[in-house]
Amino acid sequence: MARLLVLGGTELANRFVAAVREAHPDLEIVLSLAGRTRDPKLPDCEIRTGGFGGADGLAAFLKSESITALVDATHPYAAQISANAAEAAKAALVPCQHLVRPEWVAGPGDDWHVVESNDAAARHLESLSATRPLRVFLSIGRQELAPYKTLGNCSFVVRSVESPEEDDLPPGAALVLARGPLSEADEIAFLKDRHIDAIVSKNSGGTATYGKILAARALGLPVVMVRRPPLPVGTVSRTVEDAVHWLAGQSV
Ligand code: NAP
Repeated sequence: MARLLVLGGTELANRFVAAVREAHPDLEIVLSLAGRTRDPKLPDCEIRTGGFGGADGLAAFLKSESITALVDATHPYAAQISANAAEAAKAALVPCQHLVRPEWVAGPGDDWHVVESNDAAARHLESLSATRPLRVFLSIGRQELAPYKTLGNCSFVVRSVESPEEDDLPPGAALVLARGPLSEADEIAFLKDRHIDAIVSKNSGGTATYGKILAARALGLPVVMVRRPPLPVGTVSRTVEDAVHWLAGQSV
């Protein structure tokens, strides 16, 4: 029996699972979650939760569970698990592809300041705030807030789906818990209400969190955009349709 492992934790992974169920009703699908989100939205398939114990652990799982194809549909910034997927698939001789949403591209009216990392984003904010205090909307999730904790001339509004640890927040930061999708109009109201001068964002792609980018454009606000980490070498699909097509070609 063919058995597909999908590394998920994203809305894209859920849509992929639903599409595979329709295209290949006989295929067994196991969806793997890191287990960080409370009460995640789940598609109708077998679910496993928690880390594998690095690439070796994942390779062992692929073998012991007789997995015949692997799709890494994790978030574009989840670089460790994507690297592990590529390495484990190679070791276990299982075909693997990475399914990742296309990046957003800056358009007319956008004022993007593209940086390589959160450390670089914090340094950039330091220079932007050299002559005046800045109120900054941090829209980068809750796990990588450390570089922003020591910026004297910036104050922060942090928005995330789940609450960060209290100690992880920059001093004095306001915390807002929210899950997308949020419209451009909602985001314009939010940015105005919070007197935001600049935004820090990941280049997540997709529509669910694009409202803030449209709102920044409408309000003429700078966006410090943290570049995506590189994907491992291997097959990449940008859409669910392409990923399902790849799967059909694997004779799994
Ligand atoms: P990461 O840094 O690449 O992964 C760290 C470790 O977490 C991995 O080495 C692995 O542990 C475990 N892990 C990650 N994803 C897993 C999965 N789908 N199934 C089982 N184990 C997994 O990733 P992360 O940034 O912590 O992200 C964790 C999860 O949240 C991912 O599933 C990702 O799709 C989702 N997510 C991430 C972001 C983001 O911005 N990073 C945003 C939204 C959702 P072992 O080495 O022990 O196997």
